Amino acid sequence: MRLTDATMVNSFVPGSAPLSPEDEALLIRRTASMGPAYRLFYEQPLHVVRGEDVWLYGADGTKYLDAYNNVASVGHCHPHVVKAIARQAAELCTHTRYLTSQVVDYSERLIATLPAALQHAMFTCSGSEANDLALRIAHNFTSAEGVIVSENAYHGTTQHLISLSPSLGSGVSPSRTTRKIAAPLDGDGKKFAADVQSAIDDLAQNGIKICALLIDTIFTSDGVAADPPGFLEPAVNVVRKAGGVFIADEVQPGFGRTGSGLWCFNRHGVTPDIVTLGKPMGNGYPVAGLVIQPHIVEAFGATIRYFNTFGGNTVAMAAASAVLDVIENQKLVENAAKVGGVFAEALGGIKALGPVRAAGLMIAVDVLKDDGTPDPDRCLKIVNSLRNRGVLISASGITGHILKIRPPLTFGEDHVDLFMDRLNKVINSI
Ligand code: PMP
Repeated sequence: MRLTDATMVNSFVPGSAPLSPEDEALLIRRTASMGPAYRLFYEQPLHVVRGEDVWLYGADGTKYLDAYNNVASVGHCHPHVVKAIARQAAELCTHTRYLTSQVVDYSERLIATLPAALQHAMFTCSGSEANDLALRIAHNFTSAEGVIVSENAYHGTTQHLISLSPSLGSGVSPSRTTRKIAAPLDGDGKKFAADVQSAIDDLAQNGIKICALLIDTIFTSDGVAADPPGFLEPAVNVVRKAGGVFIADEVQPGFGRTGSGLWCFNRHGVTPDIVTLGKPMGNGYPVAGLVIQPHIVEAFGATIRYFNTFGGNTVAMAAASAVLDVIENQKLVENAAKVGGVFAEALGGIKALGPVRAAGLMIAVDVLKDDGTPDPDRCLKIVNSLRNRGVLISASGITGHILKIRPPLTFGEDHVDLFMDRLNKVINSI
């Protein structure tokens, strides 16, 4: 069954993939106990039992090169992060209604990595909650409802966010207050700003004022828009001039992935009003949140009491703090820039593939037919064949014709060599 993400399969059909009897039984139990809404990666689902650095291990002992996992961003089961979580869990796990040093220390540390205007941190358990909270605060600040997102955006699972996540496909009903605009995959910032203006005008004609431009600053699910740095600035100016705020969703590109500081918006020379964070923040421990300019949250904070039971708990803060330690100690931002550059260049040398768009270790490659049109079928074959040769990636873009590659930030040039060896074999075999 083809769904919006071309690499995911729906409920498992027994006998449809060469699986061990144990895995087949597990899949049947999974579908029966978890119901119809879940999806698995790959035509032949992968049963994993262990992770270490850039490697995932299958139930049958096969070792897979993980070139897709941006949650275990400092490497699967990094010992420093694991120890920090275990130590804190053994000492105290409690929430933000007590005075604890962990959440204050981390807030200060996080804020110090951001432009001076972003002064307050708030914590959640997921990127969805972070975006939902950001929108609540933005609505409160602007007294407006209109939100602009990119055409194939994904921002989360809440009722509000699904209408702002067109990549979820046909199951999502359009919202009166949302406008979708094409992602600037060609880097044309002027056109993107003009599209933002048209969306604002269209909202106004329908009696809706602009509240926010909500953008994944690397446009992950649209297929990665990376260059030229700075292309976002005109659009941000347009939205602010109309009274809206700029919410930078850094859930995907944040914490060093793009290789230019910790934050992707740095590449564009803009300071967001709100930055939302998630996925790699705790290297798999559920910790997320936002950082915000004080004047935007002032009225909200005066009237609304914010509490999130698990958000910002002491263990979450230990995990998040340990992740920052590793990024600093292992110089992972520098590594993302260096290895990402080598990787993108190697991918660019493959004649059978289309253009590469990349920043650090966030890499997208178009798979095109001879006439230059998208080739989602070949893209899907590449993803599944790589999986069968021990390399894990996925696909993105509206038609699912874009290879999405985003390995842990510890990826080295030897891993790039291995990846390219397998990719060349796959391409020659298709
Ligand atoms: N924003 C972006 C850009 C994302 O990619 C995601 C998750 N894929 C989210 C928000 C939502 O994060 P979570 O799954 O932690 O709710």
